[in-house]
Amino acid sequence: MSRRLGCRQVRHTLQSFLDGEVDPRQAERVAAHLESCSRCHVEAEVLSRVIEALQRLRPDLDLAAYTRLVAAVEEPTGDDPSSGPS
Ligand SMILES: [Zn+2]
Repeated sequence: MSRRLGCRQVRHTLQSFLDGEVDPRQAERVAAHLESCSRCHVEAEVLSRVIEALQRLRPDLDLAAYTRLVAAVEEPTGDDPSSGPS
């Protein structure tokens, strides 16, 4: 059972992954995808930096809502390389 995640799934999971809210098996899959997909890797890096900065500036902020918003905005439209990274 080692179903590979697509970019879309990874991006949906990204904020939970960065918050440590996904189960270990799912986290492993996301991490594996980030290793092999530079686009999602960059996405994760940017998102984690934004989260880190916001936590420092505004610890009272609802970051979960914010990161969900970012993920929704950055969701690629009509561009789903479901065949996975080459
Ligand atoms: Zn990807």
